[in-house]
Amino acid sequence: MTEREPEYSVTTASGAGGPAKAVPAGAAPAPNLDSVTTINSDGSRRFIHPADVGGRFTTWRRLSAYALILVYLSLPWIPVGGYPAVFLDLAQRRFHFFGWILSAQDAWLLFFLFAGLGFTLFLLTALLGRLWCGWACPQTVFLDHVYRRIERWIEGDARARRALDSAPWSKGKFLRRGAKQLLFALVSLVIAHLFLAYFVSLPALGGMMLSRPGEHWAAFVFVFVFAGILHFNYAWFREQLCIVICPYGRLQSALVDEHTLNIGYDSRRGEPRGRRGTPGAADCVACNRCVQVCPTGIDIRQGLQMECIGCAACVDACNEVMTRVHKPRGLIRYDSLAGLAGGRTRWLRPRIYVYAALLLAGAVVAGYAFSTVKPAGLSVVRITGAPYFVDAASVRNQFFVRIVNKRPAAVGFSVTVEAAMPGLTRLGLTEPVAVAGLQELVAPLVLVVARPQYAGPFPFTVRVRDAGGTFTLERRGEFLGPEARLLREEETESLRAGHDRSPAKR
Ligand code: SF4
Ligand code: SF4
Repeated sequence: MTEREPEYSVTTASGAGGPAKAVPAGAAPAPNLDSVTTINSDGSRRFIHPADVGGRFTTWRRLSAYALILVYLSLPWIPVGGYPAVFLDLAQRRFHFFGWILSAQDAWLLFFLFAGLGFTLFLLTALLGRLWCGWACPQTVFLDHVYRRIERWIEGDARARRALDSAPWSKGKFLRRGAKQLLFALVSLVIAHLFLAYFVSLPALGGMMLSRPGEHWAAFVFVFVFAGILHFNYAWFREQLCIVICPYGRLQSALVDEHTLNIGYDSRRGEPRGRRGTPGAADCVACNRCVQVCPTGIDIRQGLQMECIGCAACVDACNEVMTRVHKPRGLIRYDSLAGLAGGRTRWLRPRIYVYAALLLAGAVVAGYAFSTVKPAGLSVVRITGAPYFVDAASVRNQFFVRIVNKRPAAVGFSVTVEAAMPGLTRLGLTEPVAVAGLQELVAPLVLVVARPQYAGPFPFTVRVRDAGGTFTLERRGEFLGPEARLLREEETESLRAGHDRSPAKR
């Protein structure tokens, strides 16, 4: 692995031996924005070892990352209403969100959830750039604050890690690499298990862990495959996921404009860059510290780039340098392109109004949709086989009625069937039924119309009311049968045939 960037050094123009390469005053290096920074010219991967950085943003990012990790990992442990705070119970087709229970029939609400998240991300990106990527995305949170911490602990700082990369295999390298991969695997397994707990609950997960894999093959394979993917991603793939795979990075170029808050380099203040004391050099001392700390290996001085995940490491790094060289902080800072160009950032602009309006409209519709969610679910499906049955006395349709009780306590339900069809009778569900908490009841419902009253197919409504009368569920259905005219003709024919066969006639 070749070392691309020198270590941090603030040298003077006359300083000897400083590794930092100063660019001649007045001449910023030509940006190479046509290639991905982590791919060498021969197509091989250039593995990034970002240097350590300290500062205000790093501290806040670390604190927020630990808070987020705590939230990600603790939700399956927090009981709300007797269930984990977030429990996606796929086996029972129920979803628990902080005591709120949705059934599979309410899955359509996910559309509003995802649309709301999408519009929120649009609005936040237009206002604050890639705040999500740098501060809250699980990829960044776990990579920067868990896996890279382990790596640094075992292999040392960026310089030591690069040296270890290029060193030949030895016992020491083998032990360090082995210990790192082992810890990575353990952390990946812990995350994979806790992720599975979102779907099976912790007690069930504990039971699985104590039993033989053969008793729960699907979960066993899932955990190891998912842990393997995590390990591959966090140990090797890393920033490539943000650069090559994540669609959000590409989408952001369509969402931001010159007034979006991003992390940028103030070239008016920094250029021409040059070592301290270089005649005519501006504030950038060309130390390359901002590049060395960048987890995607880019040079923010070349302008806003797709690879920038907004982690603010370069802001802290440059502020540290500016403090050392007694220059004002903020050469690299959170600012809009307009602000960096000396203009004024306009927070309120047409795209912000459009995204906010879409978000508001979506929130109103979602609020209404969620308010219509009932504490029970109802479905009426025709029993497979013939759609209807005709016998000498009646026309018959058969259905299954499914009542899902989403509440934790048992609820009584009464079922009625309404239709503009005299003579309609039913078998099944004629008496009130009780459905245990978080359980469902499936019962047959047979609708019968006597032949003399039958006048062709007709719509009907199944109504289910809870015992307390607090809500009613309705499902419309269609009673199917032959054309009434054909039925009458058949009756006439059989009457005539019977008459022809009668003894008097013979
Ligand atoms: S350019 Fe700065 S903010 Fe962007 S990814 Fe690199 S270090 Fe983070
Ligand atoms: S922008 Fe700041 S950190 Fe980057 S090279 Fe210039 S002085 Fe150093």
